[in-house]
Amino acid sequence: MASLSIWEQESFYAPKDIIIVGAGLMGLWTAWELLQRNPSLRIVILEKNSTPLGASTRNAGFACFGSPTELMSDMETMGIDDMLEVVEMRYKGIEKIKQHFSDEVIGFEHCGGYECINKDSRFWPALDDRISQLNKLLKDITGHRSIFKYAGNKLPTSGLQHFDTMIENSTEAALHSGKLVQTLTQQLMAKGVTILSGFPVKEWQKDSNGFEVLSANDQSIKGTKLIFCTNAFSNSLLDSSTVEPARGQIIVTSPIPDLPMKGTFHFDEGYYYWRHLGNRILLGGGRNADFEGENTTDLNGSDIIRNTLIAFLQKHLSSSIQYSIEHSWSGIMGFTENKRPFTGYVKDGAYLAVACNGMGVALTPVIAETIASDILS
Ligand SMILES: Cc1cc2nc3c(=O)[nH]c(=O)nc-3n(C[C@H](O)[C@H](O)[C@H](O)COP(=O)(O)OP(=O)(O)OC[C@H]3O[C@@H](n4cnc5c(N)ncnc54)[C@H](O)[C@@H]3O)c2cc1C
Repeated sequence: MASLSIWEQESFYAPKDIIIVGAGLMGLWTAWELLQRNPSLRIVILEKNSTPLGASTRNAGFACFGSPTELMSDMETMGIDDMLEVVEMRYKGIEKIKQHFSDEVIGFEHCGGYECINKDSRFWPALDDRISQLNKLLKDITGHRSIFKYAGNKLPTSGLQHFDTMIENSTEAALHSGKLVQTLTQQLMAKGVTILSGFPVKEWQKDSNGFEVLSANDQSIKGTKLIFCTNAFSNSLLDSSTVEPARGQIIVTSPIPDLPMKGTFHFDEGYYYWRHLGNRILLGGGRNADFEGENTTDLNGSDIIRNTLIAFLQKHLSSSIQYSIEHSWSGIMGFTENKRPFTGYVKDGAYLAVACNGMGVALTPVIAETIASDILS
């Protein structure tokens, strides 16, 4: 890289109090929370790509805290207490988003959500008991006596077919992920946060004055504290195995005149999810058709999953609905074995905050509070 001018050295590249790597939702909310606690902090966010490129701008835009069978499955793998703790964080995160932005600015739609369930689900036996157990457990978090209600009567007019019943969560919502990230970015820049895009962090050094972070194209910046919000891309950078990459793929239909369904929808323990997007349908998931193949940070999707998603639509959309597939993309999630996000100090005193396990829209606003407290304590 050409040597920096004195102007660049004293502005964009001037030493900072905090360096955050990764301009996805985790990095952005972290900067926001740090400034809430100390507005005079000098913060830079370093982003590898021209716009954030991982999960935050490539997700499905569900503002959700978990569908019934997903939570039932979480109870098995995490235990009830951990499941509830994570649900509470997600619930609070969504409330925070609602308070922070006006609906119009981030395309927030209070549309309600549903889970479709079939008789061959392993949770079908004793479903009534399981739903009422969940409702009891979630009452104190959501303030709703029955957050999940049977809504099978809505199936015949939904445009969906080959589902046996449907459970409604009227608090679930949808939003525009691009607008969310862009608006939060603009708010941070208005508060004086520097964002350096095209800064692919390669390595860093620590001495008694703090950190020096170096990019793959020989840029360098110094800061007192260093936080990695690099999600699925963290392992090679940090030489660790904290987070497993999991690719998620999405397809979007052509506009469908008089689209009957409105809302967010889930199926099969969270492995399939779809929503209205104006008068189109956005469908994502299918990762369970090829777990191994989707354990990757490669953003080029695979035909296996794309065809699985297309087949899902063909099976479950009423045959009277005509459409074609007009868009498809993929993003990379970060997962941990215990399904809990990871926050904490790692190599050489750098801090790592990653792995929202596929629900970072809801989780990042709240995890950022923990990060800010840890960093400023
Ligand atoms: C297909 C899909 C659907 C999803 N649907 C939903 C949903 O509906 N609701 C929900 O709540 N969650 C959903 N998620 C999950 C959610 O999007 C993520 O949990 C969340 O966006 C994670 O944010 P993050 O900032 O941790 O990671 P990311 O958004 O991946 O951000 C990490 C950033 O770090 C940058 N970076 C990486 N390495 C470097 C480096 N060396 N130097 C500089 N920068 C670097 C990347 O470019 C990236 O911008 C979905 C995810 C996917 C992929």
